[in-house]
Amino acid sequence: MAQTFKAILVSRDDDKNQHVDIAELTDAELMEGDVTVAVEATTVNYKDGLAITGKSPVVRRWPMIPGIDFAGTVAASEHPDWKEGDKVILNGWGVGETHYGAYAGRARVKGDWLIALPEALTPQQAMAIGTAGYTAMLSVLALERAGITPERGPAIVTGANGGVGTVAISVLSKLGYQVIASTGRTSESAFLTSLGASEIIDRAELSEPGRPLGKERWASGVDSVGSVTLANVLAQTMQGGAIAACGLAQGMDLPTTVAPFILRGVSLLGIDSVMAPKALRERAWARLVEDLDMDKLEALSRTIGFDEIIDTAHAILEGKVRGRVVVDMAG
Ligand code: NDP
Repeated sequence: MAQTFKAILVSRDDDKNQHVDIAELTDAELMEGDVTVAVEATTVNYKDGLAITGKSPVVRRWPMIPGIDFAGTVAASEHPDWKEGDKVILNGWGVGETHYGAYAGRARVKGDWLIALPEALTPQQAMAIGTAGYTAMLSVLALERAGITPERGPAIVTGANGGVGTVAISVLSKLGYQVIASTGRTSESAFLTSLGASEIIDRAELSEPGRPLGKERWASGVDSVGSVTLANVLAQTMQGGAIAACGLAQGMDLPTTVAPFILRGVSLLGIDSVMAPKALRERAWARLVEDLDMDKLEALSRTIGFDEIIDTAHAILEGKVRGRVVVDMAG
């Protein structure tokens, strides 16, 4: 009999009500691809929370195995770059949205989507970084391409206690930036300071509509919140500064004016981790190995088992998850 593995399957009934079940699948039931990976670790991203709860239309093919990222070992390959036993990482490419994803013992994907797991990382460490950490690094790389350096002035990180925020704080502080962390959970100030934040501000300062231009407070930033918060971040960015926008935790809208762009030469840098080209992905992961302190990574992550994924998906949407969650598939 074919070997089976557990998978989370989201499906829709005729009335478009969403159901989430644990199923036993075989390799034959996986979708098309030229590499089959034994999934060793994954994580729970905000997007996975949306997919499992159905709160936003992340899933675009039914049924779907959610989970947008994983690390594991190649079990079978018809792709020239990969052979059985290779350690790999996958982030994005529509996996967990239109192609069966990470919340299963095995995943079959296109070999072109995979990158090699850096030797310095275990699958669990890679997923402690996860798509959130990789996106934080894509944001830092974009700031660097825009000519930003620590000497230019402080960097703001919004959504500070989230996955993107915590890694962004750790990396920026290691690179020598003075980091201002904006959070709704000021009770977590000690944690944010331990990651490297030198100033904590209450996110309420940025979440209500403000003036088109304000006092210049930071030269750069990583924003995972969007909406009014991003508008206020832009309005308070110093002359010639740059903000990397990667998220929408407050909202998809951006009620800003052109004032920061035309009067202060501020740049708004868009970050898309899903379709990022392979070379940029490899660069981001290599820089994470260099610039993310593994002790801090440990401090901001906790490990759960497969059976806790669904509850954690709900918790992340309720803003109850701090830092990173690693799903150990053996656990
Ligand atoms: P998390 O849920 O871990 O973190 C989001 C954080 O945002 C929360 O911890 C909270 O931080 C803050 N927040 C939540 N709700 C609000 C609100 N209403 N107003 C202001 N702040 C709020 O998510 P991730 O860090 O994994 O992802 C952050 C965002 O980035 C998401 O929108 C996600 O979809 C997006 N993303 C985009 C990617 C891309 O490719 N562009 C890739 C990965 C993520 P605190 O409690 O400190 O206030």
